[in-house]
Amino acid sequence: MSLNISAERLLADLTHLAQIGSGADGGIHRVAGSAADFAARDWLDKTLRCAGLDSHRDPVGNVFGRVPGSSGPWLLMGSHADTVPGGGRLDGAYGVIAAIEVLRTLHEAGHPAAEQIEVVAFWDEEGVTAGSGGGLVGSSALCRHPHVEELSGYLELHIEQGPRMDSQGIELAAVTGIVGVRRYEVTVQGEENHAGTTPFSARSDAGRVASRTAAALQGICQRINGSVIGNVGAVSFGPGAPNVVPGSARLEAEIRAGSDEILDRVDRRLREVLARIASEEGCTATLTETSAKPAAHFDADLVDLVDAVCRRRSVRTERMVSYAGHDASVLSTRVPTAMLFVPSTGGFSHSAREDTPDHLLVLGAQALLDSALAVVAGRVPQQLAA
Ligand SMILES: [Zn+2]
Repeated sequence: MSLNISAERLLADLTHLAQIGSGADGGIHRVAGSAADFAARDWLDKTLRCAGLDSHRDPVGNVFGRVPGSSGPWLLMGSHADTVPGGGRLDGAYGVIAAIEVLRTLHEAGHPAAEQIEVVAFWDEEGVTAGSGGGLVGSSALCRHPHVEELSGYLELHIEQGPRMDSQGIELAAVTGIVGVRRYEVTVQGEENHAGTTPFSARSDAGRVASRTAAALQGICQRINGSVIGNVGAVSFGPGAPNVVPGSARLEAEIRAGSDEILDRVDRRLREVLARIASEEGCTATLTETSAKPAAHFDADLVDLVDAVCRRRSVRTERMVSYAGHDASVLSTRVPTAMLFVPSTGGFSHSAREDTPDHLLVLGAQALLDSALAVVAGRVPQQLAA
């Protein structure tokens, strides 16, 4: 049986959800725990019930929907319902609304797969408020809850949030995993001295060590692997005056790559380069890892099924790794997981400028339905809806 989602209903629901928490700045203000966030969850409850589905909330605030009386195991599909302050209308919301549309379509058609699917709107993915510990709160709580044992897998549809698909004209992507992220603090010790009377040759300039290291990071990443990304996001010199040679310096950096092995190589090279530059400048330097999130690798069979569906739906598809974090990274530690991406126009996200053309939003939701059927059946159906 071939089935089509309702494009009108999908787009209307996205528009409705975007009105909850919309600000005068054009952005969406639905930070986890805000009045708008609770209003959105109430509206999701109502939308599920109007579709003849059961809706319930776990103690954390995750909203779940499923066919009444279904007994599992369920293929979970969804994303998060919270936003960053002034965020876009699609980040998270698109994956939630599309999952509801897929389950609603299957349920209306009386398709047996409907009983094997559960939808979710996760609580606090973004981690904006103090005390939310960097986000992914709802998905992490689910992975500690016995309900996770009743899940057969997890599928998440999301906008790419970067420019790669849009700039290359790619319409659908099967996501193979999520980059690992390591953060560092570099501290440099030099010698504070008079900036006018101390010749260059006699300086131990901690500021030069920090600056040269910051400038070297891009080359270090690119020489190891074209897909590695690095960033120095904060630099400070002490004591911090134009007529004093910096006696100390500090910088904060992060690196992202699709595998922990590549991150290890960048880490080693960064330490070597820092030590060489410090020695050339007559200073000492230490590099401390302040946090490390391992790379997530999605389930190979599930990614293959999703990839096959994407290729059936569009000639412009690709497999890619995600450079942004998602609830799927947490779920992938407990159940077979895969993701689908649609493009972000101009690559904008976490911004009021975040957008994706309607026809691609519809295509992505249809690919999610096809993927759900493929995963439940364990194979890609021979016939896909036109
Ligand atoms: Zn998101």
